Amino acid sequence: MIGIIGGTGIYEIVEMGEEVENKVLQTPYGESPEISLFKLHGKTIAFMPRHAKGHANPPHMINYRANIYALKKIGVDSIIATNAVGSLDLSIGPGDFVVPDDFMDFTRARNGTFYDSRTVHVDVTEPYCPNLRQALISAGNVVDGGVYVCTEGPRFETPAEVRMFQKLGGTVVGMTGLPEAVLARELEMCYASICTVSNYAASISPGKLTIDEVFQIVEDKRKELTATIADALAKVPSKRDCVCTEALNGAEIGNGGDSEDL
Ligand SMILES: [Zn+2]
Repeated sequence: MIGIIGGTGIYEIVEMGEEVENKVLQTPYGESPEISLFKLHGKTIAFMPRHAKGHANPPHMINYRANIYALKKIGVDSIIATNAVGSLDLSIGPGDFVVPDDFMDFTRARNGTFYDSRTVHVDVTEPYCPNLRQALISAGNVVDGGVYVCTEGPRFETPAEVRMFQKLGGTVVGMTGLPEAVLARELEMCYASICTVSNYAASISPGKLTIDEVFQIVEDKRKELTATIADALAKVPSKRDCVCTEALNGAEIGNGGDSEDL
């Protein structure tokens, strides 16, 4: 089953499908947000609002482990995530979509692993699923590749931080992409993200953008984002033959490496 983790703005994808059923799951990490199951292109899709209903949880308070665990438990093996980001690259502007191929994690106060009582070092040489990335790239007008920088938030970045991220090779900066991508890999799920650029990162904007303009850009791009994801869902290969499926092979010290209780 394919799962979608949506930020604000793409809830209407659920209405494109049929047979909607809503479920809240209990996990060892707490309750999941309400997951909507629907059928599209003959496939069952699970939609999860990342921030729970009504944007209740800010980025640093999201229960990432409960979210990913719940999707795994409901039968999801592949996740397409959406993230709103600021651009660090003047050639990528507001309204563009980016499908990152690497990330840098600058979060500091989040539970970033399922393995607190076992020593599991998961490999992220290929941080995002190549097959899911390909499905997204072939589905719409997107920037293929880029480095997603994740900050702790909830404040925005300082000019010095933005200069640092640029020097380190970052392409876009956001607050919600990690540890989500790693948690999915730890449970051997496929994961890729499509990022909507809503603004330039602080201090590099060629002209000051008002908050109304930012909202307008996100609103204008919402339909295109939803259509791109819907098209990508049809393009996801039914057979999983990527690195993600064997993420735990050889990752655990002193054990075979089956994921706990799943
Ligand atoms: Zn994969």
